Amino acid sequence: MIQSLLQSANILLFLSIILVVVGCKKKTMSLDKNQMIEQKVDSLLALMSLEEKIGQMSQVRHFWDIADDDVATKFIGSVIHTEGPVPGKTALEWQEKFIKLQKQALSTRLGIPLLFAVDAIHGQNTFEGATIFPHNIGLGATGNAKLVEEIAAITAIEVQATGFSWTFSPCIAIPYNEKWGRVYEAFSESTALTTKLAIASVKGYQGNLADLNTIMATAKHFVGDGATDFGVEGGNTTLSEKEVNERLLPPYKAAVKAGVGAIMSSFNLMNNKPMHAHKAMITDTLKTSMKFDGIVVSDWKAYSRFGGNDIVNAGIDMIMAVDGDLDDFQSGVKSGVKNDSISISRIDDAVKRILRQKFRLGLFENPFPKKELIKEIGSKPHRNKARQAVRESLVLLKNENKILPIDKKTSKIVVVGEHADNAGLQSGGWTINWQGTKENYKGTTTILDGIKSISEGEIVYEKDASKVHKDADLAIIVVGETPYAEFFGDIGHESNTLTLSLIKEHQEYIGNYKKAGVKIVTVLISGRPLVVTNQLQKSDAFIVAWLPGSEGNGIAEVLFGDYNFKGKLPHSWPKSEADISGKYGPNFWNDSIPALYPFGYGLNY
Ligand code: BGC
Repeated sequence: MIQSLLQSANILLFLSIILVVVGCKKKTMSLDKNQMIEQKVDSLLALMSLEEKIGQMSQVRHFWDIADDDVATKFIGSVIHTEGPVPGKTALEWQEKFIKLQKQALSTRLGIPLLFAVDAIHGQNTFEGATIFPHNIGLGATGNAKLVEEIAAITAIEVQATGFSWTFSPCIAIPYNEKWGRVYEAFSESTALTTKLAIASVKGYQGNLADLNTIMATAKHFVGDGATDFGVEGGNTTLSEKEVNERLLPPYKAAVKAGVGAIMSSFNLMNNKPMHAHKAMITDTLKTSMKFDGIVVSDWKAYSRFGGNDIVNAGIDMIMAVDGDLDDFQSGVKSGVKNDSISISRIDDAVKRILRQKFRLGLFENPFPKKELIKEIGSKPHRNKARQAVRESLVLLKNENKILPIDKKTSKIVVVGEHADNAGLQSGGWTINWQGTKENYKGTTTILDGIKSISEGEIVYEKDASKVHKDADLAIIVVGETPYAEFFGDIGHESNTLTLSLIKEHQEYIGNYKKAGVKIVTVLISGRPLVVTNQLQKSDAFIVAWLPGSEGNGIAEVLFGDYNFKGKLPHSWPKSEADISGKYGPNFWNDSIPALYPFGYGLNY
């Protein structure tokens, strides 16, 4: 008897799920797509137990955080990947790994598919062999919204091809201080430029969200990440409400209007309150006033870092419950609901947002990645687009006596510096690994490769300046920063001795060639404006190349005049370290400190 009751209960559940997923045609005839999705969300939510709801709110890494059948037994809602080749050697192995996890999710009572997310922030940068675009600061220099949209659309294809449907990008911070180690992840210090490119980026990633070659975007980090005092990652942002509204919120408003699927909360405090627990900003401003109906996702390990259930009550919908947080999060929220410190309507709001995006993405119909897309990874057309982005991102700060464009017939050019022939160094953080790599990686061209392929004269390469080629007609000296990412890239962080100036050896490269009387073209590889006033004086031409990514050959095409310079400074350029030692630095609204070059500066031929 009990068995047959259970059996009929199962049949009923099965029929309900079919109705939820497929939708009852008759009833929905007059409804538009969004209304139909809302109906499916409500029907599915009505079938869910508390454990299943909390499961949907849980986001974990595909390794370490979960074992065996955890995806099914803990009803996990989302799985992430943040760096490196952990999922396998080939894209096919990545897909297979994620298909296996997806099948586990689909085997559960309600069969709700997983959302796979990745930190693809300048291309699918976690996969070796993908097209790696210039970091956002370089795209800010291009100012080219169409290009940013095309890049995001290409990234979406390469992301899907490796098994994901969600990226944690774009970062739409407004960096106030160049000491912040994430300046390069953001487009610009200008709110207007950031807003324009945020819209383009969201459109490019998402296109029609249900297509199999588009992905969900994440605007991050909400809000104030780049405006902390002294540029400290996760520090305190002390701004007035007016300034937050005028300088920081416009890109978010635009991203929401463009339909961004997710917004990530930020590590920083806002006037001493952790952003993750800031109900007024997350629920009242973002969800209610700005009408954001997507997922507010937490940042790394936020549950244990920023107040446990407080962050759920503040309005965080999906929790990155990584590094040992998963069980505490799931049991903590469950007790919170049982003892009424979290309302079930808050949980339902969170789950609805997650299900809504899963339906919008078409995951119920198409939960698996497509093998056909694999051949698109790092394809020629994709790399050509990246190369165009490299060319357009270059900013020419100085060109004395028209030393540029370089005559292709110049008989001897010496190229100096380890950055000239190392794709890892030219790509910055969030490339293959979280903090970047100092090695060449698959499928790239270096700056030297580009110079060699275009010059018709002799090219000599010196990794450093221990040997100075006095007889050279020209020295192209490539200097800059070594890769870093969040926390470790902050100037002043305990892990490093970074300053805003070039390291001594790089200063010497330029100094030695100046002494030798050789004409100097300096190319700077960096994730932020550096204080290079002295090196600018010694150089005949000076180019800011930001972090160009995998297509280093785009640089030579401009140096040798096949293309003109187009890039404009997306940040005002500091003249001395002292200028930047204060709370802000010479940003465009701080008129008391004149910049060496203003925002928007950039020469051409
Ligand atoms: C960063 C985010 C990133 C997340 C996942 C965090 O530490 O702040 O920007 O998306 O990790 O890797």
